[in-house]
Amino acid sequence: MPAVAQKTIRPALFLDRDGVLNVDHGYVSRWADFAWIPGARAVIGAFNRAGWRVLVITNQSGIGRGYYAEADMHALHQAMVDDLATEGLRIDAFYHCPHHPEALLEVYRHPDPPDRKPNPGMLLRAMADWPTDRASSFMVGDRESDLEAARRAGVEGLLFPGGDLLAFLKAEGRLP
Ligand SMILES: [Mg+2]
Repeated sequence: MPAVAQKTIRPALFLDRDGVLNVDHGYVSRWADFAWIPGARAVIGAFNRAGWRVLVITNQSGIGRGYYAEADMHALHQAMVDDLATEGLRIDAFYHCPHHPEALLEVYRHPDPPDRKPNPGMLLRAMADWPTDRASSFMVGDRESDLEAARRAGVEGLLFPGGDLLAFLKAEGRLP
């Protein structure tokens, strides 16, 4: 990512992953099990074209629980990026939290991981990496913990009830 581009202050669309970008089958870790939520790619495209940053903010306790490795998740995210690229679409960055209070693997065990939503750590790191117009930015999540993390980071949160993500944001009047 070019350092100069990063210095420009822009609004950001923060997206939870499971249940917002892809169907949440529970601990999705392989492209073969991955299915885009209807309208998700169109939303990414709309915000790309409007000059917003698109940043994924995802709890991945499946790593700490030992269900899959961090490398598996990175491979899945790369597959998402590659799939989007075929349509000229872009996710600017992924932030993930592998930590969990009851992680099987000690390296991922933490009593209250600062990055794990509802804590705001990932959003705060994202905004440190990408200068963000916080007032016009917002987060879309499918759980209260997503909205709580956004609140604690000073960003508005929208609860996605499922269905078509593009239709939802259109109905909310939130398409750029
Ligand atoms: Mg979710």
